[in-house]
Amino acid sequence: MAKTAAWRFRQDRVSARAMTSPSALPPLKAVFLDRDGVLNIDHGYVHDPAQLDWIEGARDAVAAMTQAGLRVLVVTNQSGIGRGYFDEAALDRFHAAMQAQLAEAGGRIDSFYHCPFHETAAVEAYRVADHPDRKPNPGMILRGLAEWGLRAEEAVIIGDRDIDVEAGRRAGMPGYLFEGGDLREFVGAVLGDRVPALK
Ligand SMILES: [Mg+2]
Repeated sequence: MAKTAAWRFRQDRVSARAMTSPSALPPLKAVFLDRDGVLNIDHGYVHDPAQLDWIEGARDAVAAMTQAGLRVLVVTNQSGIGRGYFDEAALDRFHAAMQAQLAEAGGRIDSFYHCPFHETAAVEAYRVADHPDRKPNPGMILRGLAEWGLRAEEAVIIGDRDIDVEAGRRAGMPGYLFEGGDLREFVGAVLGDRVPALK
């Protein structure tokens, strides 16, 4: 009996999702972005502004979203802090460099959320298994929603790994896997129906 109920629940969810057209969703207000591999090229534990190499179209994508009135919120796993490769101050400097270069293009990250925790972190304070903030857990996304007064249906996430999409799913929002190419074109393709200014 329990099995039947669970099956029916899944069927209902599938049907509801299939019937959800963009026009049935509330206006999009925020886009969560993974950082490494979406905004900047992922050279591995990037933290020095000298290593900041933008993904093609990334600055234009952020600028277009900012100018469309969307909140742009970065959610990034940064176990390099827990591993002792760099510290929070270095991360802040890197993000400040990103903001400065985005501002030149007319864009802005409204908030950066990062997770320094990892189960094998060298720094004891950061050694936490399955931390609620570490993607695919949704802690950073839920904090961003709360801090900006947003509902999950008003946001989406774009990431280059399954854990990003999964974190969005756990927070209750659609996720889009960016597998390379031009981020501005990708944003137009996946969000243009909900935000015509992004087409
Ligand atoms: Mg990534």
